[in-house]
Amino acid sequence: MTSPKHGHRRGNDAPSQRILGQEASKRQERPAVGSARAQGQGRTAQVLLPLALSHAYAYGVPAGMALRPGDFVRVPLAARQCIGVVWDAAAGKDEEGRIDKARLRLVCERLAVPPLPPMLRRFIDWMAAYTLHPPGMVLRLALSVPEALQPIPPSIGYAAAKPEPAPATRMTQARRRVLTALAQQSPLGRECLLARADVSASVLRGMLRAGVLRRLELPADAGEAAADADADFRLTRAAAALSPEQESAAAVLRAALTDKEQPRPQGFLLDGVTGSGKTEVYFEALAAALQEGRQALVLLPEIALTGQFLHRFRARFGVAPVVWHSSLSSARRRDVWRQVARGTARMLVGARSALFLPFVNLGLIIVDEEHEQAFKQEDGVLYHARDMAVARAWLGGFPVLLSSATPSLETLFNVEGGRFRRLCLPRRFGGARQPRIECVDLRREAPPSGRWLSQSLETAMRETLTRGDQTLLFLNRRGYAPVSLCRLCGERIVCPHCDSWLVEHRAHACLLCHHCGHRRSLLRDCPACGKGESLVACGPGVERIAEEVKTLFPDARCEILSSDRVFGARGYEGAIRRIEARQLDIVIGTQVVAKGHHFPHLTLVGVVDGDLGLANGDLRAAERSYQLLHQVIGRCGREERSGRALLQTWMPSHPVMKALAQGDRDSFMRQERRARERAGLPPFGRLAAIILSGADEERVRQTADMLASAAPRGEGFLVLGPAPAPLYRLRGKYRYRFLLRARRGIGVQRLLSAWMRRVKPPSGVRLVVDVDPYRFG
Ligand code: ADP
Ligand code: ZN
Repeated sequence: MTSPKHGHRRGNDAPSQRILGQEASKRQERPAVGSARAQGQGRTAQVLLPLALSHAYAYGVPAGMALRPGDFVRVPLAARQCIGVVWDAAAGKDEEGRIDKARLRLVCERLAVPPLPPMLRRFIDWMAAYTLHPPGMVLRLALSVPEALQPIPPSIGYAAAKPEPAPATRMTQARRRVLTALAQQSPLGRECLLARADVSASVLRGMLRAGVLRRLELPADAGEAAADADADFRLTRAAAALSPEQESAAAVLRAALTDKEQPRPQGFLLDGVTGSGKTEVYFEALAAALQEGRQALVLLPEIALTGQFLHRFRARFGVAPVVWHSSLSSARRRDVWRQVARGTARMLVGARSALFLPFVNLGLIIVDEEHEQAFKQEDGVLYHARDMAVARAWLGGFPVLLSSATPSLETLFNVEGGRFRRLCLPRRFGGARQPRIECVDLRREAPPSGRWLSQSLETAMRETLTRGDQTLLFLNRRGYAPVSLCRLCGERIVCPHCDSWLVEHRAHACLLCHHCGHRRSLLRDCPACGKGESLVACGPGVERIAEEVKTLFPDARCEILSSDRVFGARGYEGAIRRIEARQLDIVIGTQVVAKGHHFPHLTLVGVVDGDLGLANGDLRAAERSYQLLHQVIGRCGREERSGRALLQTWMPSHPVMKALAQGDRDSFMRQERRARERAGLPPFGRLAAIILSGADEERVRQTADMLASAAPRGEGFLVLGPAPAPLYRLRGKYRYRFLLRARRGIGVQRLLSAWMRRVKPPSGVRLVVDVDPYRFG
């Protein structure tokens, strides 16, 4: 390989000329970079590197190497080499001309992988400009699987040993699924078989031992080629018989996907109460996209949703979709990335990062539970995946569908403005009724000290148990107690790195910071006054509620569902299956239970603290509380037996509680809308935050002052701050915030980037721009 010192060497690295077959025809339409210039010497390429760089870098192109925008290349960078992407000329425009071509370092190699599709490159540029993050950092999101760019090693595959297994062979459901998958196609690569049959590796091992399966080595490309047949969806399989409402929504979506006369792109909101059958409707849209030969992407807020979803998908399409999320093995991620790039993975279900997969032929994005704040990425490049999905669809000229029972105010506003078309499913499918919701007024019915379940809730739980039904208790707080307090001196145990309390997790025998993960053993004595045995746990978390449930209902089978208790997708699914199989009577859950699940025997939901989400002063606190509680309550009574929800609150006349109890979402949202409009808050105005942080408190403060004196001034917008962030110290860093509040129509990005150009934060102070912030801590 070229050593960086020899970067000026010309033409010595034989460029890889292998072009994958399917790309050949597309390549001819694209002009080669620098083709207008003299051949050989002097040709340059703009290469965007997946680093925090504001633009593409110019490199020399060795004689004999043909490069087009999108090609992956290896280039020298300081003392190392780095993989980047040949970028469209405009991105590195400033650099051209200013650079001494003779001194340019040369591209080392063009990688033999399909180029990054033009639509993804445009999306990256657009998103970088919108979020004000360096394009290189956005590109990095698309290059999250470096292994996918490496040569493909031979892979392991499986085939059935004999056409029919011996009659004596033990046949489980899982084993049957393996054989069914192999009957459709054989041999199949290991990962592909595991995914299609939805079994664990141990099933394959058992089948090998039993002599039912045969293992073989597949040639280099075959692992992928085999997966290519994932395109083989059984689209002809009959869809569920849709209700008239479902059918009319599905018809609109089908037409948008198949009717060439319709305007493109189009945005839709599928607005249907929980249990109305939105999923079945968007399956029809997926089928239409696939039938048109396009790829389709379903974005889900959490991996938690995938389990039940995949089963329903299999029931509809006969195969599981290709899944993408962060806990996949790197081999699986590599395969998926390649399949998406080749266009052979047709149907993707994924978390927000799936937006950056190199789709070649994307024709539909569905964002399920669009109101979910989990779509907002809060680390690295800050973006809202729902908004970016809409942008990607707009740039690609294809439809996008947002789905929710509690659409966000932003989306409702887009419907109102005619940018989205709304499709309604006003009733639960199959005549199931909406749960009956009652507020329990804690002012009248406060449980005794140290207890959190009111008499009404306890009685309702007892009745539910007697009927053999299930109860869900909802409390959005992990652990045993949020605060440990010294009875004598009033000391609260705080995190040494953050301005926050340590949360007691009794099950793990530790105190834990929910912000930075700092963990320490449980304390008995007060660290401030030294008094022994003086610390008391204050307030409840799910573990403490579980303790109360055990005393009230010693015989009930009870389990906690929260992100720290169930590990990974499989652990989570285990818990979900136990609920479905009626192995549990009472489930105590945090927000992980709120999403998308369908539990037939769940008929009672008890909200332990309905006011919890209203406590922070965030502009969306009321909207979010409503959405979350509505979703949780929507888990019950989804079949014949009707559901009931008890909502414990100290504020029964708060608009959120009233809206829930009266089932009047629309007037609640109208009220929210008016309040936001009056205050000029999103979606009626625009917000952007700037967060400064650093370990040196004084230096951060000085930078904040510097930034303040350079702040833009003018009509139609206002810069608030600097102010110490509500969570002033986080992970040992001190933090200051600015908030830019602007009228709609003001170019927030232009203001911010001009402002940022005027100030360069000193080393040790980090500046983050958050366009459309959702967190204000
Ligand atoms: P939502 O996504 O709106 O909450 P789901 O799509 O989960 O609703 O549907 C609720 C329940 O109704 C599910 O059990 C689903 O299988 C069932 N269902 C919805 N539509 C149909 C249909 N057309 N035929 C049969 N069952 C349906
Ligand atoms: Zn901490």
